[in-house]
Amino acid sequence: MKIRPHPVMEGVFIIERDGKTYLATKNLAPGIKVYGEEIVKLKGEEYRIWDPFRSKLAAAILKGMNMSLIRPGIKVLYLGASTGTTASHVSDIVGPNGKIFAVEIASRVMREFMSRVAAHRPNVYPLFFDARTPEEYSDVVGKVDVVYCDVAQPDETEIAINNCDFMLKSGGGLYLAIKARSIDATKPPEEVFKIERRKLTEKGFKIMDIRHLYPFDKDHAMVSAVI
Ligand code: SAM
Repeated sequence: MKIRPHPVMEGVFIIERDGKTYLATKNLAPGIKVYGEEIVKLKGEEYRIWDPFRSKLAAAILKGMNMSLIRPGIKVLYLGASTGTTASHVSDIVGPNGKIFAVEIASRVMREFMSRVAAHRPNVYPLFFDARTPEEYSDVVGKVDVVYCDVAQPDETEIAINNCDFMLKSGGGLYLAIKARSIDATKPPEEVFKIERRKLTEKGFKIMDIRHLYPFDKDHAMVSAVI
C-alpha cells in the first residue's frame, strides 16, 4: 500500500493498493467512522477512504474538476449537510484551523449529523435551519471562503446565490451540485444545466468549470464559480 498527496487538492490523498487507487482524507476524528467507510493506517496516520458513489465532491474530483478552493484552514458554508458523508471529508480537509458551518433542515437527519459528525469534530458547526433563510444564520457564520451547495431542491441555484450574497467573501468560490431531475424532470439534463449556469452568470459569478458526475451519479453536474 502506498500513499501520495493529490496533485491539485491540498488535504486530499491518493492511496494505491493491489493495483487500484482510492481517494482518502486524513481522519480528524481518529477511530471514528461516519458512513461505514474504510479506515486505513499508514505511517502513524489514519485515513478515511472517500467513496465517489456516496459523495458528489469525491465524484467531481475524480472527474478532474479543480476543487482546490476547499483547502486547509479555510471557512466553508455547507448547505444540505445530510448525515455528513461529504461534510465529514470537508472537515478533514479544512482541518483543525478551518471551519465548516453545516446547514440542514430535516430534524432526524440533523440528529444523526450531530451524533456521527459534529460531536467528534471541533471544526464543525451544525446549523439546524432552512437554507432559504440565510438572514437567520449569517450573523453566526460571518464571511466564508467557499459555499458548497447540495440541497437537491428545484430552487437550488437561487438558494446558493442568496447564501453567497450574505456570506461569501469577494473572490470566494461556489461549488454547486445540480441534480437535473430535482429542478425540471421534463427537460433534458443538459438544458437544465445551461439554465442554472445562466442564473449564476447573470448574478455576476464567473463560471470556472462544469463536470457531469456520470458514472458516479446520473443526471448530476457540479458547477464551480467565483464571485
Ligand atoms: N451533501 C450531502 C452529502 O454529500 O453527504 C447530501 C445532501 S442530500 C442530496 C440533500 C440534503 O439537503 C438533505 O439532507 C435535505 O434534508 C437537505 N435540504 C433540502 N432542502 C433544504 C433546505 N431548504 N435547507 C437546508 N437543507 C435542506
